[in-house]
Amino acid sequence: MNKVYFDHNASSPLKPAVKEAMVRALDLTGNPSSVHGFGRTVRRAVEEARARVAALAAVKPAQVFFTGSGTEANNLALRGFPDRRVILSEIEHDSALAAAPGAARIPVTSWGAAELGALERLLTEGERPALVSLMLANNETGVIQPVEEAARLAHAWGALFHCDAVQAAGRLPLDLAALGADLMTVSAHKIGGPSGVGALIVREGLDPEPLILGGGQERRRRAGTENVVGIVGFGAAAALALEDLPKAAETTALRDRLEAGALALAPAARVMGAEAPRVGNTSCLLLPGLPGETQVMALDLAGVAVSAGSACSSGKVKPSHVLAAMGEDAVNAASAIRVSLGWDSDVAGVERFLAAWGAMAARHARSSAA
Ligand code: PLP
Repeated sequence: MNKVYFDHNASSPLKPAVKEAMVRALDLTGNPSSVHGFGRTVRRAVEEARARVAALAAVKPAQVFFTGSGTEANNLALRGFPDRRVILSEIEHDSALAAAPGAARIPVTSWGAAELGALERLLTEGERPALVSLMLANNETGVIQPVEEAARLAHAWGALFHCDAVQAAGRLPLDLAALGADLMTVSAHKIGGPSGVGALIVREGLDPEPLILGGGQERRRRAGTENVVGIVGFGAAAALALEDLPKAAETTALRDRLEAGALALAPAARVMGAEAPRVGNTSCLLLPGLPGETQVMALDLAGVAVSAGSACSSGKVKPSHVLAAMGEDAVNAASAIRVSLGWDSDVAGVERFLAAWGAMAARHARSSAA
């Protein structure tokens, strides 16, 4: 039986055309920094990919700095301006939260959007200029954050503004200048590209301090011979993501069908962040009293892959920091799953999910009543 993959926010399957471009790139010989013909051919492949990633974010190619992941790009943004104090939202990805351990935190509303009043208060406190980081779409709930307003506020107080757009790329149009961002993070494997390659997009004239020192690659912002095959794959995925953006509405229709079906099957369930604008592929479903990990395992047995809204380490389920920030208690914050659709999702998959999840919810309702 075919399996259903509804975990695109963790990693989206490689698109076939991306794979083909990567396989062709495996035949390239040489180092892009070499001046001979081999090197120049590889350099051209890297620069073509840079132009494609730049187009995805509506910037110039010279504003794109390739990294080894979205995580690294977040670290480069948040650690690249050591003289600035960092302010970020409670619901940022762990790669941002961990990169700025002493940062001031912007709280979020019960529907999962950053509170701008709190951001303004944080900006007025403290002597040093700030660097504000707010994601465009949350990876657990899909809630779209008030990035443009936050960027305006940040600039009004002399702060720089970074936007983690990893979960928004390919789902919303990206435009660094229109969002008002100085820095933006993207990652290939969330848009049908390979894992292990990301990019930090930087406003012209801004110069983050590098994290990795060595050769002069990426105009001295990121040393190390480029991951040429990965970068070529990123370029191909970026071009397709831009081309396929109009198809996002089809994914939204599938997601809405899934949510309506789930709520009809289990009226006690809740869709987290449903009151807010969200990217159309993500659903965070909370079934009170049934741990997310249990739901993930039951669905996996039925051939449907989703993830828990909470992280599991050393056998212990950690309640989701995102749901906790939205005001859910520890039990609820550990009782959600994240269903994330994408380019290969279809109605049959949604129906398979609903059959499996509905059966599980019914068993849970019976055992809770007993
Ligand atoms: N930012 C967000 C919002 C994410 O969802 C992720 C990955 O889940 C990352 C950053 C990190 O990207 P990468 O997996 O490329 O390190």
